[in-house]
Amino acid sequence: QKITIAIDGYSSTGKSTVAKQLAKHLGYIYVDTGAMYRAVTLFTMQNGWIDKDHFDVLSLVSNLDKVTISFTFNPELGFAEVYLNGVNIEREIRTLEVSSFVSQVSTIPEVRYQLVKQQQKMGKDKGVVMDGRDIGTVVFPYAELKLFMTASADKRATRRFNELIDRGDEVQYNDVLRNVQERDYIDSNREDSPLVKAHDAIEIDNSDLTLTEQFDTVLNLVNK
Ligand code: C5P
Repeated sequence: QKITIAIDGYSSTGKSTVAKQLAKHLGYIYVDTGAMYRAVTLFTMQNGWIDKDHFDVLSLVSNLDKVTISFTFNPELGFAEVYLNGVNIEREIRTLEVSSFVSQVSTIPEVRYQLVKQQQKMGKDKGVVMDGRDIGTVVFPYAELKLFMTASADKRATRRFNELIDRGDEVQYNDVLRNVQERDYIDSNREDSPLVKAHDAIEIDNSDLTLTEQFDTVLNLVNK
């Protein structure tokens, strides 16, 4: 019997790492909803509608029908990469610049409405692991298993900093830490679908867990 697994939590808590492992192990589909908000953000940036001191919400909202987001499984990577209007943007959406605008874009109700609708379609047949900020509360409130991941801000920023350095981006630890904290703040305080632990979600603090320990913890919950 396939189920729906919702994984929510703060930025850079390793949600996608555990979600990918779990989907692979169970033969489920994995959907990275953060990638979808990042794709809309990239679209907004490409059109010059957002920068440090302005955000043209009206232009974004009235052109949302020009955004097509899709996922295509890459067998070499073992997970699905995200495409914006047919272009692979998997790498481009992980920059600190996209991260610095994504939470603002994600506050817009029209953006959320479109993406949530698409996410619900993608997960309608169960056998799905979806990670994000509002999966257990809004997208799949009836998910059979809901996890809420947390970790100390320093652990999360260190993880994200190492990822960015590994891929060759020039970033400062302090900027990464500030971005993680800013996103947590905006995501938790927006009016539409704020980041909050669903009442029936199981909280996992992975500050001091190895990847294997974390995976075993989650797998135990699936098998319960
Ligand atoms: O998961 P990731 O860190 O890539 O998400 C990037 C941003 O997208 C989050 O900080 C949040 O602003 C937004 N997001 C959201 N709802 C989701 C997934 C992501 O608002 N379900």
